[in-house]
Amino acid sequence: KIAIFWYRRDLRLHDNAGLYRALKSGLPVLPLFIFDKTILDKLENKDDKRITFIYDAIIAIQKELKKQDSDILVRYGAPLEIWKDLIEEYDIAEVYTNKDYESYAKERDGQVKDLLSKNGAELKSFKDQVIFEKQEVLTGQNTVYTVFTPYSRAWKAKLNDFYLSSYPTEKYFSNFFKTKPNPTPSYKEIGFIETDHAFPDENVKSDLIEKYEENRNYPAIPGTSRMGLHLRFGTVSIRELARKASEHSQTYLNELIWRDFYFQILWNFPHVGQGKAFRADYDKIKWRNNEKEFELWCQGKTGYPLVDAGMHQLNETGFMHNRVRMVTASFLTKHLLIDWRWGEAYFAEKLLDYDLSANNGGWQWVAGSGTDAAPYFRIFNPEAQAAKFDPKGEYIKKWVPELNSMNYPTPMVDHKFARERCLKTYKEALDNG
Ligand code: FAD
Repeated sequence: KIAIFWYRRDLRLHDNAGLYRALKSGLPVLPLFIFDKTILDKLENKDDKRITFIYDAIIAIQKELKKQDSDILVRYGAPLEIWKDLIEEYDIAEVYTNKDYESYAKERDGQVKDLLSKNGAELKSFKDQVIFEKQEVLTGQNTVYTVFTPYSRAWKAKLNDFYLSSYPTEKYFSNFFKTKPNPTPSYKEIGFIETDHAFPDENVKSDLIEKYEENRNYPAIPGTSRMGLHLRFGTVSIRELARKASEHSQTYLNELIWRDFYFQILWNFPHVGQGKAFRADYDKIKWRNNEKEFELWCQGKTGYPLVDAGMHQLNETGFMHNRVRMVTASFLTKHLLIDWRWGEAYFAEKLLDYDLSANNGGWQWVAGSGTDAAPYFRIFNPEAQAAKFDPKGEYIKKWVPELNSMNYPTPMVDHKFARERCLKTYKEALDNG
């Protein structure tokens, strides 16, 4: 009999909650990763860099496992079908995994749990992705927080060393299932192309975290940690990062708390991840949804340099600085009155650090429809934002080199006009509520 550890968005061997429990079970542990066809089929770019990132992470795990005469099993297909095969192939007593809070994952895990239990095996899942999940942080009235500042206060009050300590998996590495190397499906077999391997380093310098507060708002400075991608796929442990944060920077810790905050919002209010506004009233807004204007925004041809710079950075690298995410998102929803869901989907396709909870949270915050949103009459002025956060125009010059040429477009919409139009449209929708 064996235990299987099912990897999903926790692609590391060290400090991994579910893997630790599996290794301590006393059963030989076979690690598994499924390239989920349902998810992959939805990705339009066949040279999506996130696939290369996942492969790299699997290869890194494989290398370590070889030292234990073990290997990771990698399969491609629909998870439920793969599990049916595995039940035939192995004598499975238990399956360990880490919790995934998205609706799709909840449904998938429910089906796999049922299938396994019909076949005498148990699916056990653990909290690994966040410090506090679901309803661990509640108000005095036992309700879920929907405003960040009091949530973060309660989060910090609950924090202690227990929640930050690592799971020492390495003590039990000898418990991996001994097996010959397993064949891994190729890029071609799963329908993708290998890309370059230039990803942010997984070690954040303490120095960067110490200067985080000072630098984080200036997109020309590499002053943020670039941990988004690693946290998304679990190549870095949130506990390790939160430990570093609490030693070196409360401001940085606060950003990690935002991450937990949006995970618990998604869990407790799943409608936000299913195309609905957190505040139902905001679904009455009559978006203009002009497709040509949307295209200009996507291509970074709005005529507003900071917006265009952000979109070029996103299109070329799969990353955009947080300050500029706010400005580009605000421009789309408020200046162009295009449904935030269009922008959300575009970011989902392009951002390497794309995460449903944070992306949805960010978009709804900007659109005003979300939790903890700034009042809707606060509309970013893209020129004022550029003057404040890119005062020397370095970021803009880097990403919009054509700025001073004849080819650079004039602004696609006047700021003052757009502002008035937005206020009117929002007011009409919300006053009738
Ligand atoms: P750092 O500034 O170094 O922060 C460290 C980590 O804290 C991040 O990696 C992230 O995990 C977390 N974090 C920071 N800010 C936030 C935040 N506002 N909400 C939730 N977590 C946060 N973040 C994503 O991880 N995935 C997304 O898909 C995403 N989409 C966004 C869309 C919009 C419209 C906006 C306004 C923000 C979005 N963010 C998203 C939040 C934030 O912009 C990114 O987390 C950050 O820019 C990633 O860069 P970094 O790793 O260098 O961040």
